[in-house]
Amino acid sequence: MRVLVIGGGIGGLTSAIALRQKGFAVDVIERDPNWSVYGVGIIQQANVIRAMAELGILDDYLDAACAFDRVDVYIPTGQKVASVPTPKLIDGYPANVGIGRPALHKVLGDRTRAAGASVRLGVTATEWHDDGEGVDVTFSDGMTERYDLVIGADGLYSQVRQSIMPDAADPRFVGQGVWRYNFPLSGDVGSMSVFEGPTGLGLVPTSPTQMYMFVTTPEPGCPRYPREGLAKVMRDKLRGVPAPQIQELAGEITDDDGVVYKPLEVIFVAGPWHRGRVVLIGDAVHATTPHLGQGAGMAVEDSLVLADELAKGGAIEAALTAFHHRRFERCRYIVEASVRICEAQLSGTRVDQATATKDMFEVVSQPI
Ligand SMILES: Cc1cc2nc3c(=O)[nH]c(=O)nc-3n(C[C@H](O)[C@H](O)[C@H](O)COP(=O)(O)OP(=O)(O)OC[C@H]3O[C@@H](n4cnc5c(N)ncnc54)[C@H](O)[C@@H]3O)c2cc1C
Repeated sequence: MRVLVIGGGIGGLTSAIALRQKGFAVDVIERDPNWSVYGVGIIQQANVIRAMAELGILDDYLDAACAFDRVDVYIPTGQKVASVPTPKLIDGYPANVGIGRPALHKVLGDRTRAAGASVRLGVTATEWHDDGEGVDVTFSDGMTERYDLVIGADGLYSQVRQSIMPDAADPRFVGQGVWRYNFPLSGDVGSMSVFEGPTGLGLVPTSPTQMYMFVTTPEPGCPRYPREGLAKVMRDKLRGVPAPQIQELAGEITDDDGVVYKPLEVIFVAGPWHRGRVVLIGDAVHATTPHLGQGAGMAVEDSLVLADELAKGGAIEAALTAFHHRRFERCRYIVEASVRICEAQLSGTRVDQATATKDMFEVVSQPI
């Protein structure tokens, strides 16, 4: 079986690795000729560690990451009040990691190529025709190929979704944005550290020498900020935070190019995730806010489940229906529970993050 994966992000690359494991021929195309990702980090939890083990890439992944087994909680004035152990799903391996997006991208890209998938950069699909027996694809470089299956792993603004589901709603802005910035790792940040208070704020170590700060802020009207002056805007967003260690870090936010700002947008496609032999995974079909740190985790799990269903060898339609059935409730829960936290923060309601995280973990620790 020949599979085309459109999009070389976390979902596309993990699906390529999972499909190669099952013996399928896989081509990946990625629109960005430089295959770049922005330079801050990402939090991944025990279900992702389990998924990376299943993909056979856990050791490379952990070598590129910073592992931790607890979350330190600080009150707004900066005192640590709790150190909450986080559950593990694989004995002898950590519960969570922080990992730089470029480091994660390198591991996934290297392992995709090592697994025997072809990766073409600076290429997209301009046309595809599904005749029921296969899909004829024309690429932006003029090449044409025929595939048994096309996977749209092309993210929040998926071209594939817009093409096969023209009636699907557009991504929705949820009223918040996230500001992130890298710092040298402080000695007292040994694990993810969250600061209580009206502003969602945390520090995440991503390597023995680096950590990043995330700050979640209300952004009414979804303003667009010019790059010039971004460091000052991020410092201003932190002005009301009383914790002295955060104020000290705020003073180090001086490089406009180092600030990564994203307005938060979500989408959840309620109906089937495929049309004929074209299927969507990851953010293309269920993009969430980062309040539970599970968006990429859901994309990675999609990859494993899709490969598992296809490897059963039945009709493609049955495999894609079974994939949707296995993934739908978990992904819906993650999107809805994450948005609930976002909405509570916006309305000034106290968010019981510990309970929300515990509930989330109960869901994602179930087998996929
Ligand atoms: C602010 C923020 C913080 C987050 N933090 C976390 C976190 O801590 N933990 C976590 O698990 N998740 C987090 N997420 C979510 C996570 O980033 C996404 O869920 C994940 O990246 C989805 O992967 P994907 O492969 O589906 O899409 P993407 O990562 O968006 O990848 C899509 C790829 O497709 C390519 N592409 C797009 N269109 C085309 C095309 N037409 N042809 C070819 N290629 C194309 C793009 O260039 C890109 O490489 C966060 C998200 C945001 C916005």
